[in-house]
Amino acid sequence: MPVRVYSPTPPNLRRLAVALRHGELVAIPTETVYGLAANALDARACRAIFRAKGRPANDPLIVHVLDLAHAEKLAEFNAEARKLARQFWPGPLTLVLPKKPSVPGIVTSGSPTVAIRAPAHPLARRLLRLAGIPLAAPSANLFGYISPTTADHVVAGLGRRILHVLDGGTCQIGVESTIVDLTDPAKPRILRPGAITAGQLQKVLGVPVGRLTRRKAAADPLAPGMMARHYSPRTPLVLREPVAKPARKIAAVFLRKPAGQTAPNIFWLSRRGALAEVARNLYGVLRQADASGFAQIQVEPLPADAGGLAAAINDRLHRAAAKV
Ligand code: AMP
Ligand code: MG
Repeated sequence: MPVRVYSPTPPNLRRLAVALRHGELVAIPTETVYGLAANALDARACRAIFRAKGRPANDPLIVHVLDLAHAEKLAEFNAEARKLARQFWPGPLTLVLPKKPSVPGIVTSGSPTVAIRAPAHPLARRLLRLAGIPLAAPSANLFGYISPTTADHVVAGLGRRILHVLDGGTCQIGVESTIVDLTDPAKPRILRPGAITAGQLQKVLGVPVGRLTRRKAAADPLAPGMMARHYSPRTPLVLREPVAKPARKIAAVFLRKPAGQTAPNIFWLSRRGALAEVARNLYGVLRQADASGFAQIQVEPLPADAGGLAAAINDRLHRAAAKV
């Protein structure tokens, strides 16, 4: 059966909720990126996620729920975790906490902790409510490739491997959620930067929030799935200030629209450099550049002190540029 892209009508949402309850996979929009969702309490359904993505079994899934009350059925919350959930949910913040027995081992790759978040996207929330089950959902792309931010991106990667895609347009944020490890509430640490920044977390928690560096993550057993190379186009990608008129075989990706003439190998991530716009366009532009047969993609990185979304954007760019 060919993949079907569903518009978000009430009957379609009801139908997809039933499919999820029956253990089928449905790609869904969230405010970060599209997720490949399945019933998080059904080990067989979750195994199908790993199969469809070609994802290794040691890379655990994030569980999506409606709110804190539902999350507390799946994870052991502490006071700090509750504070963060109350402040930032629904939204792009994932908490890593000790799991409860109801969460199948396959979801957490055998880890005693579970990653959990309440998404803000209205369609993700309507499906969660209609299905009445928690949804395990990693990004809806083939393992290692650039995450999808439109239904077309999902179909391009997984169209022959899944049956259902819910079309919610382009994702608002465009990069994956911030992941915070709160298993030791005295020492919170960011495992993956996202739209919720270390500064925002620190303000709520009142203690310094650590950041797991890309180098340390590779060797950290408590940070699975943080491989150096990820989010990568097939075309080799390098981080450097692109030149105004690059050779024809080279794609140049600028942070802001360059003045003057355009060419098929000139791309930009925003009109004037606004970080929210850069994040929203990042994966779509990289996919476009990757599909055009260039020998190399050159991308202008953000200054390290740009703040806000810059840490998340630079993290993804460095991983996209990493050698195998
Ligand atoms: P994705 O949903 O594809 O954006 O990736 C989910 C990521 O969340 C994984 O690759 C892990 O790095 C992280 N993660 C999920 N579960 C856990 C966990 N129990 N402990 C630490 N990190 C986790
Ligand atoms: Mg992913």
